[in-house]
Amino acid sequence: MNSALIAVLLGLAGPAGVSPPSGPPNIILIVADDMGWGDLPSYGHPVIKTPQLDRIAREGQRWTSFYSGAPYCTASRAGLLTGRLPVRSGMASEARTVLFPDSTGGLPATEITIPEMLKTRGYATAMMGKWHLGHLPRHQPENHGFDLYFGIPYSNDMDAPFPDGPEKNALIRNPKPDSFNVPVFSGGRIVERPARQQTLTRRYIERSIEFIRANARKPFFLYVAHHAPHVPLFAHADFAGGSPRGAYGDVLAEMDDGVGRLRAVLEELGLERNTLLIFTSDNGPWLAQRDIAGSSGHLRDGKGTTFEGGVRVPALFWWPGTIPPGVVDQMGAFFDLLPTFARLAGALPEGRVLDGGDLTPALTGTGPSPRREYFYYRGSTLQAVRSGPYKAHFVTRVEGHDQSPRTLDRPWLYDLDQDVEERYDIASEKPDVVARLKRLADEHRRGVVPVEDQIAPRAARN
Ligand code: MG
Repeated sequence: MNSALIAVLLGLAGPAGVSPPSGPPNIILIVADDMGWGDLPSYGHPVIKTPQLDRIAREGQRWTSFYSGAPYCTASRAGLLTGRLPVRSGMASEARTVLFPDSTGGLPATEITIPEMLKTRGYATAMMGKWHLGHLPRHQPENHGFDLYFGIPYSNDMDAPFPDGPEKNALIRNPKPDSFNVPVFSGGRIVERPARQQTLTRRYIERSIEFIRANARKPFFLYVAHHAPHVPLFAHADFAGGSPRGAYGDVLAEMDDGVGRLRAVLEELGLERNTLLIFTSDNGPWLAQRDIAGSSGHLRDGKGTTFEGGVRVPALFWWPGTIPPGVVDQMGAFFDLLPTFARLAGALPEGRVLDGGDLTPALTGTGPSPRREYFYYRGSTLQAVRSGPYKAHFVTRVEGHDQSPRTLDRPWLYDLDQDVEERYDIASEKPDVVARLKRLADEHRRGVVPVEDQIAPRAARN
């Protein structure tokens, strides 16, 4: 077990650091779906326009080496909300990539989520958007700490009239409003089906604003998990056709506008200096979707892989007066958010292995990020390990989204400071580093206890 990243238990909540202005801060966590590392202008995109996020990036911190929870939606979100590698909760599988409408599993009740943790400190909690951690009643957000939930239970291309294949792909490229029979849940029941996807992003924001107004006098946690820019791409009529980047740019423009609206309500209510706002993405771009997918920019490959493009994501942190503006190139990851929020709210779950540490010293400029390593999983397989600038691949997919990963005869080694594109294998030049990373991987594997696979089970067909 790795001491720097693992086993952060109560009483080890990190060094003395910042004092929030007054009491625990509000937290707004906004997650895009399948948005790549290269898709924001603040990360170098030359065409897409996101003036609100540019401003957040300029006034806050922009992290360049921040990792999601996994290269796929379900596992990544499980890691986000629990602070634990998805393999520890069974939310990672070799049988299926993610949960589907016929899945019967979901996030186990034994997991402690961010909202469950924050509720013990008096937070109001709400989620808007794509859940993807189990759609059966026992798995829904209201049973995992959210007072309020409005959104879709899984991806917006599911419940399609065709199985995965050319017909579905054609529909994804030219979707009609009723092509995907995805339900919208609110108050624990289906209130709309198919989801009116053209207006759904706007409604997430409108309901978020209502929630903020209703809870302006106590701390709140708001999780906005956009289903976009996961394909199919539907933008509101106010944004459709506006971006030279096509529908993908339109959808990002709408999400950007939503960030601006949330910020405006914080400022109107005088809450901006006591609110931490984070914007990130659940995994890299779904490159098999070609031009309607995002871009991983400098990074190699995308969603579904353990190359950097699969898991390294944009991450903006904004909290005026507490987080000094800047660019941070230290490592951070989804798993660090629960320990960070725990530090800010004063409540860390006991008696469980966590896979992250408190980022507040790095966020406030008073100390380094606790993260020195990242373990890259695809499903329940540890495929690669990063330690400092070095990254070793043990199992990988060579090219193309749909080819199965294979175990490499000899690990590949990259120096991500020198070669963030992962182009130049230096394993033969640095056998000592390869050996060290292999030991790290072996040590890590020994600390992971096998649990029941939550993603594999599916309902019997009638
Ligand atoms: Mg995703």
